[in-house]
Amino acid sequence: MPTTQETAKTGYVGRFAPSPTGPLHFGSLVAALASYLDARANNGQWLVRMEDVDETRCDASYADEILATLDAFGLDWDGEVIVQSRRKARYQEVLATLEAAGQTYNCECSRKEIADSAVMGIDGPVYPGTCRHKNLPAHGAAIRFASPTGSVEFEDRLQGKQMQSVERAVGDFVIRRRDGLTAYQLAVVVDDFDSGITDVVRGADLLDSTARQIALQRALAYPTPRYLHFPVASNNDVEKLSKQTLAAPVAAGDRIGVLRRALHFLRQPEVHSAANCQQLLAAAAANWRPEAIPQTRSLTVPDEA
Ligand code: GLU
Repeated sequence: MPTTQETAKTGYVGRFAPSPTGPLHFGSLVAALASYLDARANNGQWLVRMEDVDETRCDASYADEILATLDAFGLDWDGEVIVQSRRKARYQEVLATLEAAGQTYNCECSRKEIADSAVMGIDGPVYPGTCRHKNLPAHGAAIRFASPTGSVEFEDRLQGKQMQSVERAVGDFVIRRRDGLTAYQLAVVVDDFDSGITDVVRGADLLDSTARQIALQRALAYPTPRYLHFPVASNNDVEKLSKQTLAAPVAAGDRIGVLRRALHFLRQPEVHSAANCQQLLAAAAANWRPEAIPQTRSLTVPDEA
């Protein structure tokens, strides 16, 4: 673990941000491991944030289980765990800033209305801006962020140069849902800023969200962190391993073996001898070669992972 002085020198602050919708599975362990190793290899801090902003899908018992699993694997985080469901007032404050700056509007379109009138984008129908100039009351409405014109460009540390016109690929997107819940895109931007995150290391299933997050950062005059999107773990049917596909939880059993498989998945040098998870992680951090991770959006894992 780096000393506070070392961290202060590098300034690196990374994070792992699981959604507690199920126990940790192989794919989320890879996410924890990659972000952990990148932070430790840079003498940085590694924070954990529970992304339970969508309370309809999350469960506190899964949050506890995820933390216990990280602990059992020797993935020790720095500081207090950040919990999104306790930060609603903060999200509301930032939302009010965007509203006051005229960068949002209320929207009462139903999913069906949008689907009927929209062209398909990267993440479902592109919102056609129906309510943009209607000046609708807030009650019962969702709040959308008015996407900037022009492209958002950024350099991903692994996937290279990325360019996306949020306006064309997504349209004006929801930052507060009709049911009052803050949308993931806004919560993540506020949390990363408030935690002083310098480096986001996460799965490539979120690569397409990054331009939206950068657009929000710019609107709020927040700095943009560096990004590294590694391939997500898929099973042999090329389906992302997720809680929905009921991928097996990694909590029990041969933890060193699971960590070795996760390192192999990330094409990291093999660690030859390790008596426990901590030793294996220390050696893996010393050997960390992010440039060796395949530059793809998904990678197959053998069934037994
Ligand atoms: N909570 C998201 C997930 O579990 C990750 C969000 C992020 O890393 O920005 O997929």
